[in-house]
Amino acid sequence: MLTISDVGRRFPTGTEALRDVSLRLHDGDFLALLGPSGCGKSTLLRLIAGLDRPDTGTLRWDASAPPGPGEIGYVFQDATLLPWASAADNVWLPLRLRGIARDAAQRDVTTVLDRVGLIGFEAARPAQLSGGMRMRVSIARALVTKPRLLLMDEPFAALDEFTRHRLQEDLLNLWRDIGCTIVFVTHSIYEAAFLARRIVLMTPRPGRIGREMDSPLPRSANTRLDPAYAALVTAVSREMTALLEAP
Ligand code: ADP
Repeated sequence: MLTISDVGRRFPTGTEALRDVSLRLHDGDFLALLGPSGCGKSTLLRLIAGLDRPDTGTLRWDASAPPGPGEIGYVFQDATLLPWASAADNVWLPLRLRGIARDAAQRDVTTVLDRVGLIGFEAARPAQLSGGMRMRVSIARALVTKPRLLLMDEPFAALDEFTRHRLQEDLLNLWRDIGCTIVFVTHSIYEAAFLARRIVLMTPRPGRIGREMDSPLPRSANTRLDPAYAALVTAVSREMTALLEAP
């Protein structure tokens, strides 16, 4: 889907966020970008989204299918909902910005609210919803344009552990059901190991790809209790420690 070659990004402040980053993203991937805070994960995600440009290197989309408008969805750590609008109207927003009337959007809005488990809460305003439900609205809003690529920047970091686990499980089901490609930024080894099929470990700033690990784990509600999951977490921790301690 996308080939990232030797990408570097230095901000005008002089901060070198990324150096020589090369990575291929395949259709259907669930890829985690894992690394300590400040290692350039969000910067890389913004480059993939086209919200920023690299100073060096290139990002090349598969020529046969570059993403069209609305085909990249973005979910932030903060749900960033309009406080005065209902859950359904928040989800409608990206369609509204494309000139699609509320009535015409109704079916798509209901479909994605159903996918994230929010039927019955369509009329609720953000202040009436829990943090987890607000994040579900945010995910539904990203899905309503039917993106091929979903970019998620630490979307569950601010949630309590129980809610986070539930959303992680639901996200995996969603990914299986809709078959989109996901790039998920996290600084949690547990989260990366639970969710991703490919875990990309980044070095401290300037961010480089330190190592890539595949996860062959079968996922189910019991994955967290699976010794294979514990072994994967240990292996990723070991690699991450080695990267953090490297000169
Ligand atoms: P991460 O997502 O891994 O926490 P970021 O990509 O947000 O890391 O940031 C990488 C580094 O670049 C950090 O030191 C951050 O302060 C810096 N940075 C990010 N955005 C900007 C910007 N717009 N201007 C200057 N420095 C920035």
